[in-house]
Amino acid sequence: MKFSFRPYTLELKHVFTVAEMSRSTTPVMLTEIEYNGITGYGEASMPPYLGESHKTAAEFLSKIDLSKYENPFELEIILADIDAIAPGNLAAKASVDIALHDLVGKLMNKPWYDIWGFSKNTAPYISFTIGIDTPEVVRQKVKEGEEYKIIKVKLGKDTDKEMIETIRSVTDKPLTADANQGWSDRNYAVEMAHYLKEKGAIYLEQPMPKEDIEGNAYVTEHSPISTIADEAVRRLADVKNAHGVYSGINIKLMKSTGMREAYKMLILARALDMKVMIGCMTETSCAISAASQLSPMADWADLDGNLLIKNDIFTGTKIIDGRLTLTNKPGIGMEKL
Ligand code: MG
Repeated sequence: MKFSFRPYTLELKHVFTVAEMSRSTTPVMLTEIEYNGITGYGEASMPPYLGESHKTAAEFLSKIDLSKYENPFELEIILADIDAIAPGNLAAKASVDIALHDLVGKLMNKPWYDIWGFSKNTAPYISFTIGIDTPEVVRQKVKEGEEYKIIKVKLGKDTDKEMIETIRSVTDKPLTADANQGWSDRNYAVEMAHYLKEKGAIYLEQPMPKEDIEGNAYVTEHSPISTIADEAVRRLADVKNAHGVYSGINIKLMKSTGMREAYKMLILARALDMKVMIGCMTETSCAISAASQLSPMADWADLDGNLLIKNDIFTGTKIIDGRLTLTNKPGIGMEKL
């Protein structure tokens, strides 16, 4: 197997604001694994607040030598070796995992939803994300997301209710909310959860800082809608800690080190009777198509990251009438444009 990577920078259609910061680009690393004339593609998306960059990813990925493996189907061995190279580097690890899955799926001539035994016909509707912004921009974005059946609103600043009222002034679609750890008072978080329920919200993501386990557990206990751990859950081992603290988990390939561990997280969460959502960063259709392979088993999917960028270079899973629509293509179900 021959492994290569190159840096790329995603340009966002809108400046994106979450509770911590604003930005207009996202650095990504694009990977390829070639074997017997077939190429698998992967991607690492590295929003700066997660601590990875072109530099850290290049350093990590240069240490990978796939030429020593003869059988690409030995995913468990290869990916465990890569994980052991250095701690962290979660997105960089995901970029190798995704490319390897794409390659293996192509060698089997099957998409991963097929290999895993899911039906692409049960892929969920997706939410369209609206960042914290002025009422004018929020209204404009609601219009842009016309095709979507669910709106996800970013909260966590002092304009929370204004954001919701603005959205409600132009649409009555179901909402989902993400506070991105922005609330520090558990009673305020519970009050907001009730307010959100009244306003037609389905779930509330990461209400309080991930370190405040007791606070988040309190919110979950008193919230009329499901709470979802996002920042608090990255990898498989975090799922059991989230049990009893949140109603569900948000699985993202860039946190989980890729598809293999994401699948294990999904199965464990199900066994613990927890809700599962599949989320993303701003990514090309490469990582989005990879994540979408798991989506038929998720309660909710938040896979609109490719729609927020101007310079996608892949085509794969699409949104048709607000629903994730997976291709029949093998591997992660996408092609280079
Ligand atoms: Mg989130």
